[in-house]
Amino acid sequence: MPTTPATTPFAGLSQRLPELMARDERRLRRRLEGARKLRDPTRQQQAATQLTSEIDKAEARVARRRAAVPKLVYPDALPVSQRRDEIAAAIRDHQVVIVAGETGSGKTTQLPKICLELGRGIRGTIGHTQPRRIAARTVAERVAEELGTTMGATVGYKVRFTDQVGEDSLVKLMTDGILLAEIGSDRMLRQYDTLIIDEAHERSLNVDFILGYLKQLLPRRPDLKVIITSATIDPERFSRHFNDAPIVEVSGRTYPVEVRYRPVVDPDDPDPDEDRDQLQAISDAVAELSAEGPGDILVFLSGEREIRDAADYLNRLSLRNTEVLPLYARLSAAEQHRVFHRHTGRRIVLATNVAETSLTVPGIKYVIDPGQARISRYSTRLKVQRLPIERVSQASANQRKGRCGRTSDGICIRLYTEDDFDSRPEFTDPEILRTNLASVILQMTALDLGDIAAFGFLDPPDKRNIAAGVQLLEELGALDGSGLTQVGRKLSQLPVDPRLGRMILEADKNGCVREVTIIVSALSIQDPRERPIDKQEAATEKHRRFAEPHSDFLAYLNLWAYLTEQQKELSGNQFRKLCRTDFLNYLRVREWQDLYGQLRQISRGVGISPNVANADPDKVHISLLSGLLSQIGLKDPEKNDYARPA
Ligand code: ADP
Ligand code: MG
Repeated sequence: MPTTPATTPFAGLSQRLPELMARDERRLRRRLEGARKLRDPTRQQQAATQLTSEIDKAEARVARRRAAVPKLVYPDALPVSQRRDEIAAAIRDHQVVIVAGETGSGKTTQLPKICLELGRGIRGTIGHTQPRRIAARTVAERVAEELGTTMGATVGYKVRFTDQVGEDSLVKLMTDGILLAEIGSDRMLRQYDTLIIDEAHERSLNVDFILGYLKQLLPRRPDLKVIITSATIDPERFSRHFNDAPIVEVSGRTYPVEVRYRPVVDPDDPDPDEDRDQLQAISDAVAELSAEGPGDILVFLSGEREIRDAADYLNRLSLRNTEVLPLYARLSAAEQHRVFHRHTGRRIVLATNVAETSLTVPGIKYVIDPGQARISRYSTRLKVQRLPIERVSQASANQRKGRCGRTSDGICIRLYTEDDFDSRPEFTDPEILRTNLASVILQMTALDLGDIAAFGFLDPPDKRNIAAGVQLLEELGALDGSGLTQVGRKLSQLPVDPRLGRMILEADKNGCVREVTIIVSALSIQDPRERPIDKQEAATEKHRRFAEPHSDFLAYLNLWAYLTEQQKELSGNQFRKLCRTDFLNYLRVREWQDLYGQLRQISRGVGISPNVANADPDKVHISLLSGLLSQIGLKDPEKNDYARPA
């Protein structure tokens, strides 16, 4: 750039700043203001030289970023490609745009490119959030591939434990949890010039926190653009939240899907096979669909355990010309990627909910839907947060069904009855309405998001409930007058209800972490012990073996020991049978073990280590009490009932 004759050593510098990356602009503007105040002309001259060189560098950086924008090509067939001019115009003319459309229409993979084409991603990064780690990574890989660059160059991703974002990355995929955590150190989110909040219809707590935070941030960041994507589930809600932001609908063509109801145990069958379980139902459905002709099958399962069990089961059947392919978060990138590779023969993909709207598994002709998912929920009766496996909503079931109607007609087999479907709620409640507010407040405080009562939530919680939540946190010693305590900080990292988390922290002091974690895990899920109405006595009889005269809690430990023992002795199949004859729900038993493993791992991360020797039962009870202070009752021996202590 030619320099004009200078009247002061700083002439012309401030005009160059607005072209720099926003963070550089801010930093250098402050420096320039400081330098202007210098009295000594020599020092002024020195500062000007220094600043000029830094501005040159920052300009070179912007030029490098502009040059890094590759030629943008859009796959013709995708609905988003066809509507890209309209989407681009909406983004250009508005600060917030909602893009709604069927899964697979190209929102996730094409929106970052439309943003690049508009010149976004230069003065700040295009931040693009996903609800799950597995999606953040595969989407980043896909966008990088479509742009013809290697991962970590123009496109990078950041998830817990992995940061693959380069100095000059223009697009950054991440989990919504990462973006939230970044607010702590970058209050104005200045590193971004554009944010794509993907899969907002899931209404996870993280998404609600982000949308609430953005609402108050946007007026102070007029240069920041926000694009919110949603499956076709009530996009108007987001529009209203952001002052009637425009909605662009991009649903592509879909094909009819035939639904068949094949319940695991048919209630109308006069002679039902009570022993039939979900795995058998899945393999029967696979056989039924295989007879229909070629085409890949997608099965929805609620977690890694269930997926591995189903994979073992199906692999043992040695189906002809068929490949079984698991898809869950903990697989390696290469293993996850296999679902996108071409193949011959039939493929059965066993996936978690990630395949419902986040990842489009190509080539699916058939869907098998057992109708469940792990849904975090607050139990008002037990006053704790749990992660039970629950029936999914009608909206979710229909999303799952839609996965096989993308490129041709499909068939969806639901492993439950039509009456069951009709009786389900239409939508899944947003997580904030299912979650203990104490836990929401705890997380908001840990993230430093400000006053919950003043926060711009899509669904603001009730004032009285907020007060109760704060009171509980004070009772647990997580909050005091000055904010989060040591205990609170640790609690916010444990993915269980604060009451239950508190028990684990106390157990650490009392040397009984192992026992308490087993009990806490059991309390976080639905009771694995079953008592079918017509066989209550037989079930009670079986369960009596685990009872402890003075403590229902200790019964869980006995049951745990029994299960661990049996599992060592028996084959997987035998163990499943044993669970059935003992009136134990096999899936919940697995879930219990799963959660225990997770909690143990996360506790270690917070510096809590399990005891090796068996703990004294009194210590266990004392630790449990720390989470239940307001629920202690006085036993009235005459009435054999409990009263609140005065
Ligand atoms: P949406 O976000 O609207 O659900 P996507 O942008 O995720 O849609 O997907 C658009 C298309 O790109 C789909 O047909 C999908 O199968 C395909 N696709 C996405 N990721 C990959 C990948 N890693 N490899 C191959 N195809 C992919
Ligand atoms: Mg998507």
